[in-house]
Parts: sequence; structure tokens; C-alpha cells
Amino acid sequence: MASVELHNIHKAYGALTVIHDISLAIEDGEFIALVGPSGCGKSTLLRMIAGLEEITDGDVSIGGQVVNAMTPRERNIAMVFQSYALYPHMTVAQNMGFNLKLSGETKQVIEQRVNEAARMLDLTKLLDRKPAQLSGGQRQRVAMGRAIVRNPAVFLFDEPLSNLDAKLRVQMRSEIKALHQKVQTTSIYVTHDQIEAMTLADRIVVLNQGNIEQQGTPIELYRKPANLFVAGFIGSPA
Ligand code: ADP
Ligand code: MG
Repeated sequence: MASVELHNIHKAYGALTVIHDISLAIEDGEFIALVGPSGCGKSTLLRMIAGLEEITDGDVSIGGQVVNAMTPRERNIAMVFQSYALYPHMTVAQNMGFNLKLSGETKQVIEQRVNEAARMLDLTKLLDRKPAQLSGGQRQRVAMGRAIVRNPAVFLFDEPLSNLDAKLRVQMRSEIKALHQKVQTTSIYVTHDQIEAMTLADRIVVLNQGNIEQQGTPIELYRKPANLFVAGFIGSPA
């Protein structure tokens, strides 16, 4: 686990500024939901934290250390996307262990971590299957397993459930909640689903056109949205 701090983050693509001046401190073990309309900069922000996108200006710190110059691997962050991109020719176990193999872990260590993650995610019986033999929810669990085995300091989720049907979304939401209660890894969870944000997060951060519009606990935002924009996302429908 590690704290994550954003210090005056600014991001421009050419003449287009997409993140204006964002500062945010996320505590060790905290679960943050990042919400906001399409195009407001959520994915860009996550990608900068992960090291997949250059920061135009400002610093990202993880565990108190500025990581701007670090590669994604060195940052020890795991990212879960909506398209889980599993390797079709590999089994579930091989998919889950692949990153550990790249990091040079021994076969025993890989097997132990994969088995442990499989137990957490109820994948033990599926370890020998190929992705094509899995349901959407099972594939999403494998994608999470692949992230967990690396024992990351931070989890980044980018709308991980948006490709699933409504029933499965509800189920996966509880699984993510249970998982966080078990591993307590600092998490930043991007979603445009109000209920997901309300049920999962310790704190919700509302983004609008590259600025933080408001942040607070789900209850605070629900009861006292700062403006109509926030109310539209989180507040009571009245
Ligand atoms: P969100 O995830 O909130 O939907 P994004 O972070 O994907 O938003 O995008 C924020 C803004 O940055 C959008 O206006 C998008 O068009 C723009 N953008 C994202 N990636 C690029 C890129 N590689 N080049 C130029 N503009 C980009
Ligand atoms: Mg996005």
C-alpha cells in the first residue's frame, strides 16, 4: 500500500489543455472514486499516475516519492481496464502469472501467488481454462487476478465494469468491495456510474473539464452537492 499525491498536475495535448491544475492527496488504503462526464480527463489522469502518459507539468508521488521519471513497472501500480485484453492462447493461470514471469520471479513464487489470487477471486477451478471458455465476469476476475498477483502498491481502475451487463455489474461491484476489504490496497476507481461510486468509495472526486469540481465522502456529496453539476452526478434527484 502507498499514498498517492498529485501536485499541481497539468496536461496539454498540443494547444488543448485537458487537466488544468489538479492537486489531490490519497491516503494509504483509501478507495477513491473519480467521476465526471466523458472527456473530462479521468483516463488521462489515471494514465499519468500509472506512467503511461507524460505529465506536462506537476508531480506525482507514490509513498512519498516523486515518480515522474519512473517507468510504469517501477511504480508498482496495477491498472484494470474495461477491455481486459487477456492473452487468448494462454490459460487463466498463465495469464495471471505472465507479469511475474516477465519480472523474473521463480516458478514456485508465481504458482503460489497465482493460487492465492485465484482463491481470493474464486478462480481456482478455472485455472486451466482459456479465456474463450470463460464468461465476461470470469474474464474480468482474471484481469483483476493478473493485477493482484503483483502485489501492487496502488490499484487503478478505468471503468472496469462498463462492458458487463447490469446484473454482472452489481455482482462484480460487491466482489471489488470485498477484495478491497481484504487487501486494502490504495485504489483510484474511475466510473460514470453513480451507484458504483457511492457504494465503493471512501471519497468521491468529481471532475469537470480537467478541474476538481468537488470532493468528499459519498454522504457529503449526496447531501451537499456544491452545485447543479455535482448534483447531476451524485446529489439527490430532487
Ligand atoms: P475521460 O476518460 O474522462 O472520458 P480522457 O482523459 O480520455 O477523458 O480525455 C480527456 C480529453 O483529452 C478529451 O478531450 C480527449 O479528446 C483528449 N485526449 C485524450 N487523449 C488524447 C490524445 N492522445 N491526443 C489528443 N487528445 C487526447
Ligand atoms: Mg476514459
